[in-house]
This record gives sequence, C-alpha cells and structure tokens, in this order.
Amino acid sequence: MEFTAFNLHPTVAAGVTAAGYVTPTPIQEQAIPPVMLGRDVMGLAQTGTGKTAAFALPILHRLTTGGRGFVRALVIAPTRELAEQIHEAIGALGTQTRLKSLTVYGGVNINPQMQKLKQGVEIVVACPGRLLDHIGQGTIDLSKVEVLVLDEADQMFDMGFLPDIRRVLKHLPKNRQTLLFSATMPDEIRRLAHEVLSDPVTVQVGSTAPAVTVSHAIYPVAQHLKTPLLLELLRHTDTESVLVFTRTKHRAKRVGEQLEKAGYRAASLQGNLSQNRRQAALDGFRDGSFQILVATDIAARGIDVSQISHVVNYDIPDTAEAYIHRIGRTGRAARTGDAFTLVAPDDTIMVRAIERVLNAPLERRTVAEFDYKVPAPRQDSEFARAPRPPMPSRKPSGAKKSGSQGRASQPGGAKAQTSGQGHQQAGKTAHVAGAPARQTYTRRSR
Ligand code: AMP
Repeated sequence: MEFTAFNLHPTVAAGVTAAGYVTPTPIQEQAIPPVMLGRDVMGLAQTGTGKTAAFALPILHRLTTGGRGFVRALVIAPTRELAEQIHEAIGALGTQTRLKSLTVYGGVNINPQMQKLKQGVEIVVACPGRLLDHIGQGTIDLSKVEVLVLDEADQMFDMGFLPDIRRVLKHLPKNRQTLLFSATMPDEIRRLAHEVLSDPVTVQVGSTAPAVTVSHAIYPVAQHLKTPLLLELLRHTDTESVLVFTRTKHRAKRVGEQLEKAGYRAASLQGNLSQNRRQAALDGFRDGSFQILVATDIAARGIDVSQISHVVNYDIPDTAEAYIHRIGRTGRAARTGDAFTLVAPDDTIMVRAIERVLNAPLERRTVAEFDYKVPAPRQDSEFARAPRPPMPSRKPSGAKKSGSQGRASQPGGAKAQTSGQGHQQAGKTAHVAGAPARQTYTRRSR
C-alpha cells in the first residue's frame, strides 16, 4: 500500500512526499481511513510507530476545506517536548496547506501564545495545564473545535492529568470527532475512552505488526559499579546515538557529568533545566553534537531522534510499561536498535515483569574484561546505593504538577551496534520485534 491510496488533499500529499514517506506504517494504514471518514478512533500504539502522522494527515486533509482563523483541531499531549514534536510534524506535513499550528504549554511566557491565538490558528497542540490557564483567562476559544486528539493518554494518566483533561472537555463542542492514542490500556484510560469516544473504531499495532525492532539485553551488576560498567559498554559498543535513562533527576545530572568527564559528548536532560537549556540539550542530541543524552523518564517523553541506536537503562524503570516507553525511543520507524539494562540485585522482580510483557527471556550478558569484584566504597557514596524508590504517587519522578506546565521532558540519542566482542551471552537472545501495545503487567501505586 502507498500513501496515494488515501486520496489526501494534494497539498497534504505534497507534505507526505516532502517528508520522504512512501509506505504507510501499520497504524497509519489502519487509522487514516476511518479518521478520514470522520469516525472516532481509539489507537493502541506506542511511540515510534508513526502514530503522529496517523492523526495529523487526516486532520490536515479535513482542515484544507472550511473556515480559517479559529481553532478547529486540538491535540492534547503530556509533555512540552511531545507537543513540540507533534507541532513540528504538523508543520512539516502541512507546509503547503497554509494551516497554522501553535503549541501551548507552560514554563514559557504566556503572552506570545495569547497573541498568536488572537491572530488566529487552526490547530493547537497543548499540554493540559497551560491550556486550562488560557481557558480560564478567556484567551482561547474551543467552541468550534471539530477534532480532538488525546495523545499518549496513558502517560497523561500517569502524570495525574486526567482531571485537567475532563475540565478541558467541558469547553469543547459535544459534536466533534475524537481520537485517543495510548500505548497501554489501564482501566482509567478505558473509562476515559468510554466517556469521550462515540462508537469508536479500535486500531492496534501489536507484536504481530511490528513497527520497531529492538534487541534487548540485561547486564547484572552491583549498584556501585554501574557507571564503570556503562563506560566499559560504551567503549566496546559501536554506538551512534545513545539515550541513557536514570530514575532520578539528580542521577541524570551526575551520570551526564561522569560521561563528560570520561570524554564523551554527553548532556543530561532533567526536569530542573530551564526551557532554553532543555532545548539546547535536545537540539544538540538531534544534530549529533551530543552523542549521549542522559534523561529521566519524564524528561525523555516525546524524544524523537530517529537515529538513536542504543537505549541504556542505567536504572531499571519502575514498571514494565515504562520499559516499553523507554525502548520506544530506539528502533523507531523500522530502524533497529539495542536496549541495554543495567540490573542490580534488587531488580529481579522487575526483570521478570518485563520478560512477561515481552513474552521472551531477556538475554543476560556479562562483559568479559570488566572487573565485577571491585568492592563497594566504604563510604556510603551516592552511587553505591540504589536510587530512592518512587513516591507512592501517580506522578513519575521528575513530574511537577503545577497548574500551568506542560511537563518537563527531554531528548537525546546516539547510535551504536554491539561489537559482540567482550560480551558473553549467558542466556537466550530475545529479539522482540514490535513491543506489545497492550500490557497486563503491574502498575505501582494506583
Ligand atoms: P511517531 O511514532 O509518530 O513519533 O513517528 C516515529 C518516526 O517515524 C518519526 O520520525 C516519523 O517522521 C517517522 N515516520 C512516520 N511515518 C512514517 C512513514 N510512513 N514512513 C517513514 N517514516 C515515518
């Protein structure tokens, strides 16, 4: 199947060609036709599957006809970075349509947003908090919205945004098209879907229709040896662009510094950075001036660096679901990638949860020339301890729930291929093509 089969408006089809897309991804193939027919759609797809274009193209197609200068499509996303990414995709795909898109999120001056809204835009890509600020101040009119997209709904739930979303819904016309995308389907999202979608078509990209190809490996290691092992792995791996995940902001900063000290072009991305510094880290990662980006889960939401070759979980994520989100950063759009997870002795239960979700054992590797026997420092240095366990809250570490914020996120990336040398395989290889879109593993603190 080719894009021409969708009969997109010529100005939109031109955007597809300019973006270099020839074949629709599975989610696009399934979602674009019903969305173009005006149906509500529930899309079960993780990031990296091409879901942005799956909703952006039919929206652009629809908006090419009809009025201009007022908000006709509203996309709600959990983080500023994801909002920016969606906005950029809309800009690139819709370049010839002359439709105007605006991002609305917190952490930046509200006045330019107000001005642009006053001048008239057709598409708004927003984070919930700042969107509510505009609604409260009467600076946005959502009464003529024809299409609503809730993107990464499960992440919005994780970040405690569902009440905000329900508040926003009150300001939208009842008669509208609604599209909801989520990588997973916890009960709360199922309930939300029931409330907001009318007779929806469900489209799903699961393990049978892989969009990403990622190979997974775990590296058992003592907590205090994680940084030396990471350096060893980087030395022995042919990496292009590497995204490293830590559990806390502090650890992201420290690991970033340690990598820099070891001579790597590395940056860290965590919620404490100003928007400018965050953007600089993201841009540097995207254009290759930083080869390694160290980030927290929140900071990394929405990072789209298509050449990320390796995701390294310096700290194992809190949930198997978060693992799927993390590895969604590599192997995007049919590229292959590697996901390495450093596993401390306490992490066994989570490893099992991830293996259950992937439905395959994770390959256990040891690095031959690495000295695993170096004792922990006598002094209780910060990296000799496991990171603090997450607070019993819905907000993942790094998420600040302040009324007007889009959430903090950040990008990163570098590409690498395992040389194989020095890595001894102690288990079975798990090559998982296309992580499952639905999961049944444990969620914490719900
Ligand atoms: P997404 O899941 O929307 O974040 O998209 C992941 C990446 O795939 C982005 O870099 C898109 O530009 C790219 N992409 C989306 N659709 C296609 C397509 N049909 N062909 C090639 N690349 C695509």
